[in-house]
Amino acid sequence: MPDRPGLITTEETRRELDALLRRCVQCGLCLPVCATWLATGDETMSPRGRLVLLGELLASPAEAGPPDPSVSRALLTCIGCQACTAVCPSGVPAALLEGAVALAGPGTAERTGVPPALARRLDRQPVLRTVGALAAVGRGVLRAALGPRWRARAAGGPLGQLARLAGSVPRSLRADRELVAYLDRLHGGARTPVARLATPATMRERVVWFAGCANEGLLPHASHRLRELLGWAGADVIQPPGLTCCGALAAHGEQPARAAALREQNLACLQRDTRIPGAGAVVTEAAGCGVAIGNYGDRLPAPQVDAIVWLARAPRPAFGAVPLKVALHDPCHARHGQGIIAEPRALLRAVPGLVLLEPDEPEACCGSGGAWGLRHPGLSAEVGERKARRLAATGADLVVTANPGCLGQIADGLAALPFPAPAVIPLGDLLWYAALRGGREGN
Ligand code: SF4
Ligand code: SF4
Repeated sequence: MPDRPGLITTEETRRELDALLRRCVQCGLCLPVCATWLATGDETMSPRGRLVLLGELLASPAEAGPPDPSVSRALLTCIGCQACTAVCPSGVPAALLEGAVALAGPGTAERTGVPPALARRLDRQPVLRTVGALAAVGRGVLRAALGPRWRARAAGGPLGQLARLAGSVPRSLRADRELVAYLDRLHGGARTPVARLATPATMRERVVWFAGCANEGLLPHASHRLRELLGWAGADVIQPPGLTCCGALAAHGEQPARAAALREQNLACLQRDTRIPGAGAVVTEAAGCGVAIGNYGDRLPAPQVDAIVWLARAPRPAFGAVPLKVALHDPCHARHGQGIIAEPRALLRAVPGLVLLEPDEPEACCGSGGAWGLRHPGLSAEVGERKARRLAATGADLVVTANPGCLGQIADGLAALPFPAPAVIPLGDLLWYAALRGGREGN
């Protein structure tokens, strides 16, 4: 893509983009899966509409200058979720629209409340931990002021933006006993004794663990439980010291040099660790990291495999019964980025008593999109509300998902609804609980 916003720099670039755009046959199949079109009903906020605008930009002379602000907004608000690519019969890549940001010109992102300097640093664990602690304080203050339904009561009022910021920071229950007590209460069964998950006498495979900065910074307890679950299923999990952010946030924040430096740091750590030559997989926890680490290619010492996929393939012990209705949200970087659809469903269906529910519009993004939601908070909240309403409409007792950004966005969307709605927890936490109950039942 051109390197100067608002201008097409070379004829070659123009021709390449034009050839890609010509693949679009205007069929419209991509509209019903595009979260920004679903939320706004505006054709210019759809994949097809954005492609038309991009084509018009390409056809305009370079000296025409930056595009109209409405055109910039339509292009800049593409989440890059790849839902459109997944259904497009002509293979028009969503990357085309992501790249169109370079053409859209600066200055049209919404006022965010999150300073860009902070947004750029959200791939650093100390920053994430501070953000998590501040959000917890904010939620405590709002709960004290507005009561248990603080998020819904704050929606649309003067505290609405603060409540959204505090409510959308990903979080999970810290202590195992808190999680177990919460889920026991939710289905009303007998108390489940809390213990460590047993591991098999012989481990099936050594795997390298890549949690990602958001999981380690904001969800360390859920991350620990997921590692334990992998061990229960026969994974000898090793954690090379020095691994850092995968670089996805920097890449999406238009910091390619930082993304490349993070990648090189990770690859150097993996090369240094003497335990790694025996590893069968680099297991990633967050869906966004999975795509980024997968893009390291053959420089990785072992293939990248998502943790949920690894678990689904493993000949693991039986889960115990969890009599709950559970709605599943697929993160875009899992569903569209890695084709992970069957595996989480197979795991949930393997839990006795659990009823798996599918929301309408399962392909549509929740509106988190990494740093996208920070740049477009108003639209992100609209998209999130739509997703939350569809998840709540399933009648589920509980929602689960497997990506930190989705977890925070959906938690906030559900809590902001003007009626009681289910909570959302990490998919790994629910599976860990089912494994714990399996051990209890002597399976
Ligand atoms: S699905 Fe593909 S070909 Fe059809 S309108 Fe969308 S981008 Fe164009
Ligand atoms: S990448 Fe996502 S947000 Fe962007 S046009 Fe495609 S479906 Fe819509």
